[in-house]
Formats: sequence, C-alpha cells, structure tokens
Amino acid sequence: MFKESNGLLFKDLLIDPVRSPKEHKVLFTHAHSDHVKLSKKSTFFGTKQTNEIVKKRYNAESYKFEELSVNKKINFDDYSVELVNNGHILGSVQTKISSNDLDYVVTSDFRLQDSIFFKGVVPIRADTLVLETTFGDPQYVFPKQEDVVSGMVSWIEKNAKSGLVLLSGYSLGKAQELTYISNQAGFEPVVHDSIFDMNNIYSSNGINLGEYSKIDNNLKDFSVLIMPPQLVDRNLFAVLENFDKRKISSAIVSGWARKGVFDKTFPLSNHADYNDLIEYVKQSNPKLVLTDHGFCESFSRKLNRLGFNSKPLKYHKQRVLGEY
Ligand SMILES: [Zn+2]
Ligand SMILES: [Zn+2]
Repeated sequence: MFKESNGLLFKDLLIDPVRSPKEHKVLFTHAHSDHVKLSKKSTFFGTKQTNEIVKKRYNAESYKFEELSVNKKINFDDYSVELVNNGHILGSVQTKISSNDLDYVVTSDFRLQDSIFFKGVVPIRADTLVLETTFGDPQYVFPKQEDVVSGMVSWIEKNAKSGLVLLSGYSLGKAQELTYISNQAGFEPVVHDSIFDMNNIYSSNGINLGEYSKIDNNLKDFSVLIMPPQLVDRNLFAVLENFDKRKISSAIVSGWARKGVFDKTFPLSNHADYNDLIEYVKQSNPKLVLTDHGFCESFSRKLNRLGFNSKPLKYHKQRVLGEY
C-alpha cells in the first residue's frame, strides 16, 4: 500500500518528502530538514509545534499549513490518519493510517526511552510498520541517559569554571537539551541565533530550558557557548582563541561517535538505539516491516532472522517504485 516515491506515499498522502513535492496532501512528521521540503502546490499537515517550527526555521509563513491534533483520528476519503507523539523532538509524531481494517504505522525518527523533555514512544500494533533504522546496527547501544547527562554536568562544571566550554549539537532537538544541561551545571549559555529561535519555540510551548542568551559580541560574559555542528571548524577555534583568551574545552553531542575537532563526544541521542528498534518491532508485532534510513538493509536482514517479514525501503538512494 505504501509507494516509495518522493518520500513515502500512501494513496494521495505524501509523508516527509525528499524533494519539493507535487502532491496536494503532504504530512511532515517533524521539522528536521531531511523530512521537510516545501512547495506552493501542497497543503502541509503537521502538529501545531511542527508547523510553528517549519514556518520559523524555513521561512515558510507564506505556504499552506493545516494543524492536526495528536491522538485524534481524521478521515481522508477512504482512509484515516492519527498522529501520536514519538519522543524524538518537539512536535514529532508517529503516524497511524487505517484503511480497509488494516493499520499502517510510520514511526519516523523516534525515541523509545524517555528523554530530558519528552516521554518515549509507545509502540503501536500494526499490520505494516515503516520503521526508522538510523541506528539499526549493534554498535549503537546507547549508555543510560542519566549517566551521560550527569557526566556532562560534571564536565561542564569543571571546565567552565576555568575556561570557555563549547558545546555543539543540532540546533533543533539537541541544542535545547544542551541549554538545559548547561543550566543544570550552573551556567547560563550563550547560543547561536538558529538555536536561540528554536529555544524560544520550546520555551513558548511550556518546556523549561533554563536561562540562555543570543550570541552578540557578548561572549566574554559567558562560560558556555552552544553552536550547531556545521559551524564548528578549525576557523571557529582560531577566532575564539584570538578574541577570548580562555582555555577552550569542546564537546559534540550526538549518537554518532565522531570526535573530529572536538575534545570529547557525549552519546546523547534523540533516536532509538539498536535494542530499542527491536523492542518496538516486538511490541508492534507487524506482518511486514519496511525499514527506512541508516542501516535499513542489515537491520531488515536481522528482523528476517528473528522471524519477522521485512524489506528495506530505498527511495532515498534510488527512485524505484516498488508497491507493498
Ligand atoms: Zn529527526
Ligand atoms: Zn530524520
């Protein structure tokens, strides 16, 4: 019933397009850029928070949006759609589509364990499950979040007392956790503009991040700086060292272990790890699992070995229209 198209197509509903869509009905499961492509032809369905973030982040005020409530079935012609929180970021959802007494569930990017701000996903029973497998490899079993967070708090406390701490994480989702953790360590962070905008949306939706300020020639008044990863390179370090004579301690926060220019990596993730993915499938107990993103092929083989029926989706790599 799903078609691999420009995104995942169910009848006339396109979910998370990978290129500018031609379809009229488009659903964004959340506001990360790999799930959002805009077009004047479409009406974009999403939660209140996803719509709010998309409008701000992609300058999309002039596009057509429609808000869907979570946990509320809406009927489209011969199928219905229900959005259910999935613990990934503010506004993110898994999608349950029902048609002819069959349930199709698209997890999209999700987290099974509770995170700092959100409850983890509750797996949904499905006939066909489209499972996000970003971390679907046994090397990705994340340590307990409390341990990672308390390690970060002590590391920030120690290094921000005597120098400047540079923390880096995606501006949407991760940077808000970094703002909160920095406050837990006793330091109000100064943050990049893109992070400041997202922090404001989290705050206005009732999430308490603590204090934060926008960076604006004010670095000397702060001991913690939060930046998106794509803006952190050797040049930034050189500039910081030139303007700010303090010792810099830097950390990137990501499920992917990639130290690069940083002193440290903290494995704090907004995704399910390998064990969580298997747990979701067991609880959902679907007749067919379509794996999507990351390790979709090897994880699909693993599911087949566990006795499930699974195939990888490949529309991100090639434009084959396989129908399921
Ligand atoms: Zn995401
Ligand atoms: Zn994604």
